[in-house]
Amino acid sequence: MDGDPAVFEQVLDACADAMMVVDYAGLILRANPAVLTVLGYSPEALRGRQVDTLLPERLRQRHAALRQRYADHPVSRALGSHDPLVALHADGNEVAIDLSLSPLKIRGVAHVLVAIRAADVGQRSNRAMRQAHYYAQLASLARLAVDLTDPQELLQRAPAIAAHAIGCDAALVYLLEPNQQKLQAVSAHGLTVGRIVGESLPCTPETGIGYVVARRDVVVISNWADERRFVTPPIALREGFKSGLGVPLFDKGKVVGVLSAGSKRPGYFAHDEILFLQAVASILATSMQRAQVEAQLRQAHKMESVGQLTGGIAHDFNNLLTVINGNLQMAQEHLQECCDQHGLEFLQSATDASRRAAELTGKLLAFSRRQHLMPKAVNLHQMLPSLVELLRRTLGEKIDIAFAVDAGLSPCLADEVQLESALLNIAINARDAMPQGGKLQITCSSFDGALADLALANTDPTECAPVSWVKICVTDTGYGMDSEVLERAFEPFFTTKEVGRGTGLGLSSVYGFVKQSQGSVELESAPGKGTTVTILLPTVERAATPATAPSTRSERLPKGLHVLLVEDDALVRAVSERFLESLGCTVSAHACAESAWTELTDGTPFDLVMTDVELGTGMNGTELANRARELHPGLPVLLNSGYSNFLSEERRAEAANLPLLIKPFGKKELAAAMAAAMHGDE
Ligand code: ADP
Ligand code: MG
Repeated sequence: MDGDPAVFEQVLDACADAMMVVDYAGLILRANPAVLTVLGYSPEALRGRQVDTLLPERLRQRHAALRQRYADHPVSRALGSHDPLVALHADGNEVAIDLSLSPLKIRGVAHVLVAIRAADVGQRSNRAMRQAHYYAQLASLARLAVDLTDPQELLQRAPAIAAHAIGCDAALVYLLEPNQQKLQAVSAHGLTVGRIVGESLPCTPETGIGYVVARRDVVVISNWADERRFVTPPIALREGFKSGLGVPLFDKGKVVGVLSAGSKRPGYFAHDEILFLQAVASILATSMQRAQVEAQLRQAHKMESVGQLTGGIAHDFNNLLTVINGNLQMAQEHLQECCDQHGLEFLQSATDASRRAAELTGKLLAFSRRQHLMPKAVNLHQMLPSLVELLRRTLGEKIDIAFAVDAGLSPCLADEVQLESALLNIAINARDAMPQGGKLQITCSSFDGALADLALANTDPTECAPVSWVKICVTDTGYGMDSEVLERAFEPFFTTKEVGRGTGLGLSSVYGFVKQSQGSVELESAPGKGTTVTILLPTVERAATPATAPSTRSERLPKGLHVLLVEDDALVRAVSERFLESLGCTVSAHACAESAWTELTDGTPFDLVMTDVELGTGMNGTELANRARELHPGLPVLLNSGYSNFLSEERRAEAANLPLLIKPFGKKELAAAMAAAMHGDE
């Protein structure tokens, strides 16, 4: 049979693909019957024709050049290895064809055996359809992202949407945990074995997902069997995955997570699938980012309005307490004169209770950032050892306390007493969270960077702040907080403790104090994992120095002073009047600034103007004080207020350096403040 030309003829004729033998000049020497099906010509019609005539006019010239190139380097080319070509059918229509070329020698002369098959146009239109499908899926995902108010829902639904869209076997979203050490699977689709959601992986390049984080780029695994860059994750083996893909999720240039997909077929993820998953990842990341910014703003606004509210309550309570205290004090003097020991004992417990009430309103003021602060440079090297001593005594033996202050740490700018009280509050919470005992660790270090880098939950993103900080971390090994408690822990009155044990004012006053000190505070906690409270306070060099408080140096008060008193609260006015009278003053009392001003301008001489700051509608206390000083330069003025810090910057500026007496006050405090005001002591 060898060398029998009849065999060659038969093979050629039997072939299902169209076959032609062409020489290098492009002349068709022989064609088989299948050319009729593909190109519409009989074999006879093709014999002796120029092969170029089977192409549309516009392609002929280019084809001639290609043919010439092929003649120089004849190589075999398999069917389907190149994109389809266009040929001209005998009926004049253009048809897509696939070609194979095989160089052969016939009687020593080079020829080419050309096999032609109608191209699988279905494949091409399939791709176009697939792309259209991906776009449609992306559009609906984007719409979902806009519509859903809860990004968690999008996060939960994204893997299923992505996997269905590209028809792969599984998709997962991993998010980087706040400590950047681990990646947690937050949502998954298509995984049958194991409970992947909630599991964490270490964020190291040895894990495929960690590798994506480190690379900050798309990573495609064509076949796990050939993968050498990282260890095949157990889940891929368990689920029988052959190929996979990981796309990083970015937030402001930082990788915050990974969208990954897996297929049980090797090499499943091609160009279109990669682009699609990248688009899904960017929609996800954008919606998470939006939600985070919204949540921060919401939280900041909530704290701000609760702050306004508590500030108002504290202000009113302080007025009441001034009245209660004042009357208690006067009743005490009266009972002392009558030598009523029994009555004095009753009074004493009432006085104690009103002092505790004053402490509570103090905490409310702290939260509403209207506490009276005296910031100065605080050296933590000096402060911490004595504070820790105090803590050891307060917290008891079951709690092991360790502390460390970085060598060379700059002092921070804060009110030292309030900082101690904040740390004490935090430590007491830690003790409460460790009823069986445990460990409390305090570390102080420096922190240079933007607050945004810390992603502090309660940082108002619009606030600009110093860039150099002292960072104080207090960590306990207690029972920790779940996310609901964590979210509300700073709220005033929020407590999980039984009635009588918790007031819910500890962390809120820490929050207010830190914010008022231009710092920031963050909680990190999980059930059973303990809690870390991180406080940032500005270092001394960078911080703007807030107004300092008037000194309370005691001076002797001259007798027979004529005092102009302005107070809108009738009961407070009555108490102040009595106090002043018992201090030997003549008092002219007014409920509003306007009538006081009239008396001043009438020419009545006064030795001192004592006025409340907030006087309802009309002229306020600071305005009256400033006008009085214009009229009578050097006239001593004493402001008093239920806020220990003014409501607005505007009011503070008006008050300039006028001395301020904070409510509630007793007779002694009043006398001292008056003396200081008379001596121009600010
Ligand atoms: P209180 O201590 O009066 O309850 P706080 O404002 O100090 O009020 O704390 C509010 C809540 O935050 C607590 O009731 C508790 O649920 C939670 N909390 C605060 N600190 C810790 C901690 N270290 N560990 C666990 N939970 C804490
Ligand atoms: Mg507490």
